[in-house]
Amino acid sequence: MNKETFYQPVISPVTLPVDVPLCQADYPLDHYQSEFVPYAEEYLALPDRTIGRILKWMTPYMQKAQTHFGDKLLLLAHYYMGGEIVQLIEHFGGQIGDSYQLALKAAKHPEKSLIIESAVHFMAESISLLAHPNQSVYITNPKSGCTMEMMAKDYMVEPALHDLNERYGANNILPVCYMNTSGRIKAMTGAQGGAVCTSSNVKKICQWAFSQNKKVLFIPDRYMGENVAYWLGIEDVAYWPGGTAGAQYRLDQQDNKTLDQFDRAKLILFGSYCAVHTYYQPYMVEYWKKQGYCTIVHPECTNEVVRVADQAGSTAFIWDFVTQDKAGIQKYAIGTENHMVDNLKRYASELSNTPTKIVNLAEAPNLEGYKAMGCGCATMSRNDPPHLVALLDLLRQGKTLDYNLVKPGDVVDEFSGKRTRLSETSQTWLVENARRALQKMIEITES
Ligand code: SF4
Repeated sequence: MNKETFYQPVISPVTLPVDVPLCQADYPLDHYQSEFVPYAEEYLALPDRTIGRILKWMTPYMQKAQTHFGDKLLLLAHYYMGGEIVQLIEHFGGQIGDSYQLALKAAKHPEKSLIIESAVHFMAESISLLAHPNQSVYITNPKSGCTMEMMAKDYMVEPALHDLNERYGANNILPVCYMNTSGRIKAMTGAQGGAVCTSSNVKKICQWAFSQNKKVLFIPDRYMGENVAYWLGIEDVAYWPGGTAGAQYRLDQQDNKTLDQFDRAKLILFGSYCAVHTYYQPYMVEYWKKQGYCTIVHPECTNEVVRVADQAGSTAFIWDFVTQDKAGIQKYAIGTENHMVDNLKRYASELSNTPTKIVNLAEAPNLEGYKAMGCGCATMSRNDPPHLVALLDLLRQGKTLDYNLVKPGDVVDEFSGKRTRLSETSQTWLVENARRALQKMIEITES
């Protein structure tokens, strides 16, 4: 690409290709909260969605906010945000990370009292759980939920914990919850002595959990749980259904065969999962292996996929493995969220004179010759440029955007946008117990 087609940034050293269209669909005006509509109208009136055009529109707003807030401001985004959004955030001096890295940002930067997150709600809530009292955490679009988290709400998981505690005794049940859960689930976990885990430390956390000689209730992801069972050689596994079926499931209504499975189980998996990662199939891995590629998948993929892939690991693991060419063959087929694969493709192509070749695992042809495209995290991409601009500009003007403020225990209905907030007393209980589960994770991970 010609040098003139790159926008030279004012704030960060990142260069952006100005003539590339933003990888994101427009939302209708009624998708935006009322205060944000004037900004969305300006955005929708732009003649096109090329990066150069969007930057020209965003920059005066962003610079005014940055001048106003100075060093207090911290902009954050997740790797799964649409490629250009990630680069826009970096362009304005923000930081990108996976859910573990994002969760620790507030705690590690007490001087940043205003934290703006462009990612899904549970990630913003995790930051808020570990935040110092002087810090406020905002999400640009509260309706950005995670489908895995939506199928493991507290009222869906509570019956599982209640029935298991009743049948086996609370002392014999140890919950381990994935970072992709609400603060309410993290608090339930911490209150019973359990720990949070992420895709990067799940094996280590589960090894710790099994060493306690209790039945481990893994909330969710059922596929990551199956992968851990495979890695650690755990054979006795039982399943609690995810979603609303989980809320209605009762142990005393199960037949003897199912109860026997629960009685023998060392690991009980709560059945929620990520639709983005379960898209991948074993034939895709096999195809790319035959083409001489090193195949790497995320542990939210099914166990059939993980078993045949060369490597499986977290977002940060995949990023490092590929950018450092750890397989030494410069050919990688990746099975994870689409925007992350696109970001990696672009980044790796600029790394050296002999760019690493990266394909999305889904691009493998099936028996009919059809090549798929993989899957993006659509809910995360609900944080678009007008949301970021509107939030920052209105905060700069001194407006109280309580709807975007993220407090521990908040629940947002992803369809209606209605938010439910806990009383201060309940928030205090939740923070104490969720932190206990997060601290346990940090303690085990760093040990
Ligand atoms: S990719 Fe899947 S697990 Fe990750 S945030 Fe999106 S829906 Fe949730």
